[in-house]
Amino acid sequence: MDTKAVIDQLVEQVGFDFVGECTTEGFRTQPEVRNMCAVNLCQHYDKSWSCPPACGDIEEYEQRMRAFDQCVVVQSVGQMEDPYDFETVMETAATQDDKFRKLVKQLQEQDFAFMPLGAGACMLCKECSYPDAPCRFPDKMVVSMEASGLVVNEICTKAGIAYNHGENTISFTGCVLF
Ligand code: SF4
Repeated sequence: MDTKAVIDQLVEQVGFDFVGECTTEGFRTQPEVRNMCAVNLCQHYDKSWSCPPACGDIEEYEQRMRAFDQCVVVQSVGQMEDPYDFETVMETAATQDDKFRKLVKQLQEQDFAFMPLGAGACMLCKECSYPDAPCRFPDKMVVSMEASGLVVNEICTKAGIAYNHGENTISFTGCVLF
């Protein structure tokens, strides 16, 4: 089986709500996305090894992305009762994180190179060791699409899936470059 067939099969097995595919042509990392991280609406800026500024420069990510020519985008979508349904937001984030980690774990057992980019800060540990001690699980830490400098809605559009699924929905998106 070729790399794409293996990835398609693993993605299907994990079972995301939406899946899209595209080439990496035109993928670019944007300083504006990093500037949005620095506004710190998510409250993870400078609080995790997986987030800016600790996760490295966007130029470095763009350089790494150049090694790959295809991308699969995977997404979990939650239906909120109202715009303040924070519980559904948290549940959907946890679902996406769990599924994405399962996918990455299975990909790590394959013999090809890939680059995973998740959604939001790494939540593996109850409390991140940043900045007092090194990351406890550097091989399991996943940096987000946003932290890498990608514009998530652009990548979704390119992959043929919606970034926003309508009123009172919440979406968490990750991708794998291969
Ligand atoms: S694995 Fe743990 S220490 Fe490392 S970035 Fe994730 S939460 Fe932080």
